[in-house]
Formats: sequence, structure tokens, C-alpha cells
Amino acid sequence: MTPTGTDSAGHPRPVIDLHAHSAVSDGTETPTELVAAAATAGVDVLAITDHDTVGGWAEAADAARVHGVTLVRGIEISCAWRHSSIHLLGYLPDADDRPLRDELARARDSRSTRLERMVALMAADGIPLGYDEVLAQVGPGATPGRPHIADALIANGTIRHRDEAFRSWLGDDSPYYVGHYAPDPVRAVELVRAAGGVPVIAHPFTRTRSGDLDDALVARMREAGLVGLEAHHRDHGPEEVARATALADRLGLLLTGSSDYHGEGKRNRLAENTTSLEVLDAIEAASSGATEVVRP
Ligand code: AMP
Ligand code: FE
Ligand code: FE
Ligand code: ZN
Repeated sequence: MTPTGTDSAGHPRPVIDLHAHSAVSDGTETPTELVAAAATAGVDVLAITDHDTVGGWAEAADAARVHGVTLVRGIEISCAWRHSSIHLLGYLPDADDRPLRDELARARDSRSTRLERMVALMAADGIPLGYDEVLAQVGPGATPGRPHIADALIANGTIRHRDEAFRSWLGDDSPYYVGHYAPDPVRAVELVRAAGGVPVIAHPFTRTRSGDLDDALVARMREAGLVGLEAHHRDHGPEEVARATALADRLGLLLTGSSDYHGEGKRNRLAENTTSLEVLDAIEAASSGATEVVRP
């Protein structure tokens, strides 16, 4: 239990932001820079949730102690469902759990092959880009993703912001889109639970190629051990928040809120959405304890 209260402006404390990316996936800041940015933004509790990797955990934990930020170590697993990608946050899983590690490694390998194929399709259509330029944008050990193609197009002067690349070439509907290996969402929930972690669906009602997530799938994920829904997120309007709230009531799920910060890679700002202390405590209590919250 963390002490609660309000700050001098009357805002609830602690400020808890449970979804942020570093350059170990598609954020633009190192884990150290991410934690420092969180401290500057007044975030008391930050979760580092890079796509399909725990590679940023150790550096983020060191930085959290230095900057006095409480750190929740997590991941964001891309899951394949019908023709869309569903993102599952997993908080505090055991990073040494073999089945989880193997699954994440398989997804990362497949992501590399897939980016190379996307770049080949784009180049064949006259978009000026080589795969080596994309690789130059992926940090050592980082999970490769479409944002790194966007970064290569920024580096060679074709565009100015990742947004433009997603609008023109990288969107889920683009002819250049190529998928990658990803686990089924129910299997991903099982993997996170078996590793002692706490699964929460990230931005559940972000529009996807196949429409949106259906309630029946969420119910099956709940049976497999799902704990929460990320209701408060930039991609959700009042309708999506209401839908998540109703579904959480019906299925007995927690509701979280987070920024999904990516540094300069996205417009999302730290702490623009937050989670309550009660929910953070419930998440911590639902974990096996194999990975602890880092308290400075
Ligand atoms: P991938 O993991 O390769 O499927 O790429 C998906 C990632 O692209 C997401 O995690 C987002 O962070 C990022 N993304 C999606 N749309 C945009 C956008 N319009 N601007 C910047 N980043 C985006
Ligand atoms: Fe991302
Ligand atoms: Fe996501
Ligand atoms: Zn994310």
C-alpha cells in the first residue's frame, strides 16, 4: 500500500501511469530517459511496457531508484485475432518463465522478417527505402516494429512525423501491411498468468481492421485469467469508456488508465490518463510476487 493524498493543486496522488514504451521497443527514449521524463512529468508510479520484450527492465529499475519513481515492470504482447492485432499488457510476470520467454522470442524473430517484407513491397512501389536504413533505427536488442520504418523515412527526409507514414503506408489497411507471428489472445492471457503476471487488455476498443474486440472474446479471456481493461486511453472516447466500464462491471474486471507514451514517436503525453491507487494495489496483489514492484 502506497500512501495516498492530493498534491498542492488538489490532484490525486500518487500519479500512476501504467503503460509506456522505451527505445527497447518503439518509444524514442532509452529506459533511463523514460524514467527521468516520468519523474519530470510528476509521475509517481510508472509501468514500462515495451512490445514483446522485458529487455528494458533492468535499466529502468536502476533509473527508478535514482529518480525516486516507483516502477512496475511489464510487457505489451501483440496478439493475433482474426484479422487484427489485440494488445495485452502483462504486469509483473516472471521474466525467467520459459514458455513466456519462448513466445516473446518467437514473436520478435517474426517481426524482423515481416519488416523486411514490408520494405521490399514499398521499395517495389517506388518508396525510397532500404531495409538497412530501417535496421539502423532499431536499437540493440529492441523489438522491431512498423514505427522503425517510419523513423527511417524521417531520417532520409521523406516525412517529418511517424503519423504521416502510418497514414500513407503503414496502416493496418495498407497494401504494404504484412503480419507477424503473434499468440492468440486467450493463450497470451494464460501465458502471463502462468508466469505469475497480471493481464490487462490495452486500449480494447481502438479501431482495428476487423472492427472491434467482441465481448465474447473478452469473456473467454476472463475465464483464462484476465484481470482488467485499459479504459482510459487517448484512443477511447466517452463511448468506449462507457463500453469498457459496462463490460468490466459484468465480468468483474478492473479498469485502468494510462498514457501509452512513446516519447516523440506519438503525441501521447505521460500521465494524460492515470490509474487509481486501489487498482494498482489490486494488480500487485494479483501477481505471484516473482517480480516485485521496484520502490525507490
Ligand atoms: P507493429 O508493432 O509493428 O504492429 O506497429 C504498431 C505500433 O505502431 C503501435 O504499437 C503504435 O505504437 C505504433 N503506431 C500505430 N499508429 C501510429 C501512428 N499513427 N503514429 C505513430 N505510431 C503509431
Ligand atoms: Fe507502440
Ligand atoms: Fe498498444
Ligand atoms: Zn503500448
